[in-house]
Amino acid sequence: MRTALRMRLVAPSATLGMAAKAADLRRQGKAILDLSAGEPDFNTPQHIKDAAKKAIDDNFTRYTPVPGIPTLREAVTGYYKKIYGVPVPKEAVIATNGGKQALYNLFLAVLNPGDEVLVPAPYWVSYPDMIRLAGGEPVAVPSSPENGFLVTVEDLDRAATPATRAMVLNSPSNPTGAHYTAEQLDAIMAWAVSRGIYIVSDEIYDRLVYEPAKPASMAGCFAMYPDNVAVVGGLAKSFAMTGWRMGYCIAHPDVIRAMSTLQSQSTSNICSIVQKAAIAALTGPLDCVEEMRQAFARRRDLCLAIIKTWDKAFCPVPAGAFYLFPSLSAYYNEAVPNSTALSEALLTEAGIATVPGVAFGEDRCVRLSYATSDETLEKALTQMGDFLKKLG
Ligand code: PLP
Repeated sequence: MRTALRMRLVAPSATLGMAAKAADLRRQGKAILDLSAGEPDFNTPQHIKDAAKKAIDDNFTRYTPVPGIPTLREAVTGYYKKIYGVPVPKEAVIATNGGKQALYNLFLAVLNPGDEVLVPAPYWVSYPDMIRLAGGEPVAVPSSPENGFLVTVEDLDRAATPATRAMVLNSPSNPTGAHYTAEQLDAIMAWAVSRGIYIVSDEIYDRLVYEPAKPASMAGCFAMYPDNVAVVGGLAKSFAMTGWRMGYCIAHPDVIRAMSTLQSQSTSNICSIVQKAAIAALTGPLDCVEEMRQAFARRRDLCLAIIKTWDKAFCPVPAGAFYLFPSLSAYYNEAVPNSTALSEALLTEAGIATVPGVAFGEDRCVRLSYATSDETLEKALTQMGDFLKKLG
């Protein structure tokens, strides 16, 4: 069967690909230390699981309104009020199958063919493909390890053209953990408003920010400029709920209606049971989120202490998410000339699963996830240091 031309616009996710390769080797009996995971290793908190069980027992198992039941949309608005003090009307909220579907439908809802979308690099693997599938043209805006992988208004302004319609901001970032302060977000917002550029703010890691950095959201900007920004979030990372598939988008009600129309003709409402679980998560106690955040903060420091001993590596201190993105190009040699070769060699020769930086638009780096046990981290990073030393 010959597939459609549009399939040339999309490649399988490199992060999921590496996880599958590691799982294959494990099935063959090899011991793999996995630093490739994009998900918390914690279990979903008990009160959230209980709400899902109750939803089943209560037979809350039928179709619901496409954008989510009103109490779920209100739970999202209540959460933003509680966390950020920002009022968001429930008509500005849609529940989606993970943050991924929110982003996918959002691009489809706002982009026209040929619209350019600025994507600060390194970027999460799915943005360019999603933008292309929606008819847009991703334009990478480079940043560097030396400036903490942050882009400035000047960087964005240099990359913008009359065809620029939107930009993606991902803070904290996958893969770098870079995090924009509230002041930096305000400056980017002011620039975007002045240029008529729509901001897609992917804040899926917004609760995973480590001192001295403070959480910051574009939700406040949305309250001021509802025509200029959409906020995408979800429960996967902060509440350890990757498999449940609960994301959301906060945007102008016209955009939310368009996304709802798309969803009505594709996947309909998200799982009814998950909606009840999500309400429990968003309206319930948040100490479980705080406990996981503290564990991630401790692991980040543990990893950084080991990476500091790799004499040719450069790793900016990430303020959020659960990734490190060290620049390792000083170790590249003839046999291992790039991030793909380094990740392959680490997997097959040292039994360590990582993700090559090239998948995120930065071939000097490799992504390491610290969403795993302290023991695995210590062992993997110590072995990785020994492996790098052998490269030169
Ligand atoms: N955005 C970023 C930056 C991510 O890293 C991910 C997941 O890895 C997502 C969005 C999608 O999250 P979800 O599992 O809610 O679809």
